[in-house]
Amino acid sequence: MIEDKNTPRTQISELGEFGLINHLTKNFKISQKTTNVGIGDDAAVLDFDAKKCVVTTDLLIEGVHFDLSYVPLKHLGYKAVVINLSDIYAMNASASQITVSIAVSNRFPLEALEELYAGIATAAKVYNIDLVGGDTTSSTTGLIISITAIGHSNKEDLVYRSGAKESDLLVVTGDLGAAYMGLQVLEREKQVFEVNPNSQPDLDQYTYLIERQLKPEARKDIPELLKALEVQPTSMIDISDGLSSEVIHLCTQSKVGVNLYEEKIPLDPAVISVCEEFKINSTTVALNGGEDYELLFTIKQEDYPKIKANPNLTVIGHITDQKSGVGLVTRANEKIELKAQGWNPIKE
Ligand code: ADP
Ligand code: MG
Repeated sequence: MIEDKNTPRTQISELGEFGLINHLTKNFKISQKTTNVGIGDDAAVLDFDAKKCVVTTDLLIEGVHFDLSYVPLKHLGYKAVVINLSDIYAMNASASQITVSIAVSNRFPLEALEELYAGIATAAKVYNIDLVGGDTTSSTTGLIISITAIGHSNKEDLVYRSGAKESDLLVVTGDLGAAYMGLQVLEREKQVFEVNPNSQPDLDQYTYLIERQLKPEARKDIPELLKALEVQPTSMIDISDGLSSEVIHLCTQSKVGVNLYEEKIPLDPAVISVCEEFKINSTTVALNGGEDYELLFTIKQEDYPKIKANPNLTVIGHITDQKSGVGLVTRANEKIELKAQGWNPIKE
């Protein structure tokens, strides 16, 4: 990342804590009418009138959640915001503010943090949210980033994981598995580079996959689309750890089962071809890959005509009673029980 000897390296200590905070945040402007007070006081002040306030937070640790040898800091800043916003949209809510807390070691010059904040600023602009606070401290080892996202919704529009009912349809947005295969491509290139630092990787055919890994997008459009289609989902969750574990979360919290059809799982052609190249089963990748940040939700059967023509939405299964279990119906028409193999640090 910061190896180039021509790029300036300003020690963070030259600015001091308050100088650093001011430097990193001075260009952020408040644009949301729900933000009364942003950065600068002891706390931000937000006003949601009669709406419900929705809050979520995520912690990202260098070496655990990201590897700076192939993730540019600007992308990391963008992604750190996006993965939080995804959780707000998964409540069928609108996102409006974030706070950003960082712990940095003196290994990072000011210019590296400027890159990180450039990515945060881009995400704030794209998703139309305000940066309203955070905390800055030192770390003796790697970089730590914690982002909190805040949003709002009418009470009746909120969608929980627990609302799926028997005979509802299970719907997924976009396509699955690309972010995981992007990571496989990047890790392979890193190994090639370690053996031969002069190698010039040709990554053109993997552009979509690498973009999905390094610069994922949250589905801000989906709550808006569902509102326009007059569809109120019965349950919803975002796909951060892989389809399998998210389907299990939905079913467990809704006390239902599901039949999920392997042949219906949406895959991009780039995922199919790279899975052949890596000799990995594409269904396994879609089920367990993670980091796609698509939305998974259930709708009443009567709402099917409203969504069926939409290219963003794919029906992949239907909800059953809990006794029938959480099952994958394979292309060979066999039903096998789904197991969560998504990333789970507690089990590692
Ligand atoms: P306190 O001592 O009360 O924790 P700080 O001096 O840490 O306050 O922060 C001053 C202001 O700057 C606060 O509004 C805080 O939310 C904001 N802030 C601090 N660090 C960051 C950061 N990394 N990104 C954005 N805002 C920050
Ligand atoms: Mg503080």
